[in-house]
Amino acid sequence: MVSRLDGRKLFGTNGVRGVVNEQLTPEIMLKLAMATGTYFHGADMTAGCDGRVSGPLFLELVCAGLASVGCQVWNLGLITTPALQFLTKTWKMKGGTMITASHNPPEYNGVKVMGNHGVELQHEEELRIEQIYFNESWKRAEWNNVKKPLQVSEKFDGYFESILRNMGGRPQRKLKVLVDAANGVSVLSTPTIVEKLGGSVAVVNGNIDGTFPGRLPEPTPHNLMHTSRILPASHADFGVAHDGDGDRAVFLDEHGSFCWGDHTFALIVRDFLEHSSGVQKIVTPISSSQIIEQIAEKYGGEVVYTGVGSVFVSNVMLNLHAKLGGEDNGGVFYLPHVAARDGGITVAMIYRIISESRRPLSKLVADLPRSYIVKEKIPCPDSVKASVMESIRNLPRRGKVLDIDGIKMWFSPKSWILIRPSGTEPIFRILVEAPTKGKALRIVNDYKSKLSHIIKDSKRHVG
Ligand code: MG
Repeated sequence: MVSRLDGRKLFGTNGVRGVVNEQLTPEIMLKLAMATGTYFHGADMTAGCDGRVSGPLFLELVCAGLASVGCQVWNLGLITTPALQFLTKTWKMKGGTMITASHNPPEYNGVKVMGNHGVELQHEEELRIEQIYFNESWKRAEWNNVKKPLQVSEKFDGYFESILRNMGGRPQRKLKVLVDAANGVSVLSTPTIVEKLGGSVAVVNGNIDGTFPGRLPEPTPHNLMHTSRILPASHADFGVAHDGDGDRAVFLDEHGSFCWGDHTFALIVRDFLEHSSGVQKIVTPISSSQIIEQIAEKYGGEVVYTGVGSVFVSNVMLNLHAKLGGEDNGGVFYLPHVAARDGGITVAMIYRIISESRRPLSKLVADLPRSYIVKEKIPCPDSVKASVMESIRNLPRRGKVLDIDGIKMWFSPKSWILIRPSGTEPIFRILVEAPTKGKALRIVNDYKSKLSHIIKDSKRHVG
């Protein structure tokens, strides 16, 4: 059996995640909710869950835990993560709790805790909840201050209205969209968004089922093979596929070909800059393709890089009042709506771009600058990661260097390498981008051997 989550720490890189009833038990959920409610001083909070099998059970426990420490809970029931984040922000809640394991396999569930902007808490804030949890220092409410959770039914109206308003209403040309909802909660929102934009919808994997019978919830090319194949026969202008909780959206063109998140985000960046004035900041993790910077610069924008992870993008956007952010995994953030990634507004953005440009998605993507990204990983014990990073920092540099998360070195304006220690596995991740595949592979091989030597040396030093 896998060890329970509450041995030592709860929060990982994606909130709390674990296999249900092995690592993540009902007892943990209840106590975690009590600790979270105590952290928020018994304030008003939203709670909701995605379509996973254990979702309703865990939601009852979370509502009970929050209420027991004096929170007024607004129970949103089944909902997408971005809709919960949007409502947490617009209803001016102090925080929110979303029960989801996002794109993980069916046996997992988890929790994401949001703050008052609807943005996930930063790691230091999560650690304070963890402290309350392990010290059992929750503050139970007086008997007459335990508030009955409110059941919310009209939960998507304001969310839909915000998306439509931020898109400037209905685009002229009507499109047909194939929505692959991954048997997840995005079926509650994305088909309606497309209809409100004036389009027509076909849905696959549209019944909410936490066993994910249609496909696994991570929208990878492999998991979307079936949807890709049926897309041409559906005569859709494009396809969109979400992860389990609907915060990510990846796209298929009219032929059913998979579009990489960097590519669709580049189209969104161009469209955004064409529709705005002044120098706008585009926020993206350092792992994103150089294409984003190329497009941003060409259309008068400026890229701001963050560490890898949506919470970094959200917080930099809030701090700089930057309107647009995006990740290579299909996460797009639009501050005037909510500073969190939202698969729903991403669909609306791509819909508008295709509708207004009157060009198919395949052509829009084909016109983007060409580049190749190669990913690799190298085994490295956790104990030597810090000294390996130190040695990498001392490697000869030729161009710009950024060390906000691992180390990113540019060799030319279009080629770079990012070397990062994994936070969860005993490996280093290498990411290289170059204008040609040959060049990208040469850089990868060169640095793989450099890194292997450094790791070997460090091990000898420590050993
Ligand atoms: Mg997700």
